[in-house]
Amino acid sequence: MLFKKIKECRLCKSSKLISSYKFEDTPIEDDYTKKKNKNILIPLEVMSCLSCGFKQLSVVVDEKKVYGDFVYATSTSLGLKEHFKINYKLAHKFSKNLGKNDLIVDFGSSGGENLEIFKNNGYRNIIGIEPAKDLAQITKKKNIDVIPNFFSKAVAKKIKKERGYAKIICIYNLLANIGDLDNFFKNLDIFADKNTTIIFESFSLLGIVKNNLFDNIYHEHISYFHIKPLQGYLKKFNWKIVYAEHNKIKGGSIKLVLARQTKKYDKKSISKCLKEETKFKLMEHNIFNKIKNKNKKIKNQINALLEKFSKKRIAGYGASCGSTVFLYHYGLTKKFNFLLDDEKRRNNLYAPRTNIRVYNPTINLLKKVDVIVIISWRYGKNIYEKFRINFKKKIKNKIVWIQVLPKIKIFK
Ligand SMILES: [Zn+2]
Repeated sequence: MLFKKIKECRLCKSSKLISSYKFEDTPIEDDYTKKKNKNILIPLEVMSCLSCGFKQLSVVVDEKKVYGDFVYATSTSLGLKEHFKINYKLAHKFSKNLGKNDLIVDFGSSGGENLEIFKNNGYRNIIGIEPAKDLAQITKKKNIDVIPNFFSKAVAKKIKKERGYAKIICIYNLLANIGDLDNFFKNLDIFADKNTTIIFESFSLLGIVKNNLFDNIYHEHISYFHIKPLQGYLKKFNWKIVYAEHNKIKGGSIKLVLARQTKKYDKKSISKCLKEETKFKLMEHNIFNKIKNKNKKIKNQINALLEKFSKKRIAGYGASCGSTVFLYHYGLTKKFNFLLDDEKRRNNLYAPRTNIRVYNPTINLLKKVDVIVIISWRYGKNIYEKFRINFKKKIKNKIVWIQVLPKIKIFK
C-alpha cells in the first residue's frame, strides 16, 4: 500500500475527525525523478480532531516512498548556524549542570551542523541519528559519531548500552514526519530519564494560518503542531513543556523545551504562545477558511495573468516539496515550459507527475525565457536580486518576473 487512511487522532486517539482543508489530490511532493515518472495522485487533506483540536493529514504515505530515491538535506540556509547557536544556549539554560561528558543526541542530524557547535565547545559525548547515508558520511568526516539509520527501538537500545542516558536531545524538523508518535516517545524513554531535556522544533500550524504557508502542507508533514493539544499528550509520557516560542524560522515555526525535573519553568513564554494560538483560534476546525479564500482568489488571478503570456516561454523558479503543492493547488501544472532551481541535486530531474524538467538557471537558458514565476516565494527577493546582479546585463531579452505570494506582483 502506497498510503493508508488515518482514522483516529494521533494524539488523543479520538475518532471524531473533521475535514479542515482539502487540497487537490497531489503526487508525493518530493519525488523528483531522473526518468519521466507516472506518479499517482494521493489525497491531501488536513483533518481536525474535535476532541483535542490537533491537526493531522487524513493519510500517511509509506515512509519508504515518501522520501523517494534519496532524502534531501534540510536546506542549509544562511542563518541556520546562528539559529542552532541560540538553541545551544537554550540547552544550557534549561539543563542542570551540563557537563562536557554528558550525552547529546541529535535527531535528523543532517550534515552535523548542530552537533558541530557542541563539539567546538568541548562536548565529547555527542551522536547524531541520520538515515540519509550521504549526510551521515558528511557528519563522520567532521569526526562526529552518527547512526546512519531511521530511529527505532534497536537504535535507542544501542545508544543506551553504549553511552547511557542523554542529557540533551535535539529534535528539529522531524516530529511532524513521524506516524507513530506513541512509539517514538516510548523508544525515546530507553535513553531519556528524569534529567533529560528535549529541545523540539517544527514548522507550526500558527505560521501556516498566519502567513498563508499552505505550501508547508504536504505528505511528508503529517502533523501540524500547536501547544494546547501537545500539553495533554506529552503529560502521558511525563514530559512538561517548560519553554515555548513561536518564531519566524522557515516562515513560522514552534520551539519547545521539554523536561521532567527542572527548576526553570518559563511560564510567561508559554502563556504568551497560548494567547496567540487562541487569537488565531487554532483549536477550531475552520481555522483555514481565511487562507482558503485568499488562495482561491490568487489562483484565479495568476491563471488569468499567465493566460496573457500563453504564447510566451514561462518558467517557474523553485523545485521543492512546496513547489509541487503550489503547482497543484493553484492549477498551474500545465503552465510551465520548465522549472529553475539553484540546488544542483535537483537539476535535470523531472517534477512529480507533471514531468516538468528542472534546470540550473544558466545564462543560455535565461536567454530563452520570457516570463518567470517565483514559486519559492519566501526567497523571492533574493532570487530576483541574484538575477539582477549576475545575469540581467548579460542577456538582451526582457524577462517578466512574477511574484505570486503573499500577493501577486511584477518586479520592475
Ligand atoms: Zn485529538
